[in-house]
Amino acid sequence: MPGLAPEEVERRLTSVHCAICKGDRFGIDRRFMQPDGEWRAVCMKCRYSFPVYTDMEFYQRTQPDIPYRLKEISCTDCTHRGVKLDFRATMSVRESIYFVTCLGCKRQFPERSSMEAFE
Ligand SMILES: [Zn+2]
Ligand SMILES: [Zn+2]
Repeated sequence: MPGLAPEEVERRLTSVHCAICKGDRFGIDRRFMQPDGEWRAVCMKCRYSFPVYTDMEFYQRTQPDIPYRLKEISCTDCTHRGVKLDFRATMSVRESIYFVTCLGCKRQFPERSSMEAFE
């Protein structure tokens, strides 16, 4: 996804908690930034690492129901429904998190999704 910087992803990851130690500071491992948009985030506290996927254009093309789901997500701040998917992270085998931006007020927030719903 062009324009998405690792610093931006690190900043937005502070809105979620580590699956192991519940810490909220993560670093993107610059050595594992794959050309297909798969990155790796590492917990600053316990070194737990998990994948972050940044190519959402490709993801939404291969998962045609995703755009419909995004239209149903309502903002945590305003009453607007409908968000833009910026990137996603798989925090654990059970927890997939979408990092979205409200199309109404531009608020950015994480939206939890259960993996089962997607696989
Ligand atoms: Zn941790
Ligand atoms: Zn909003």
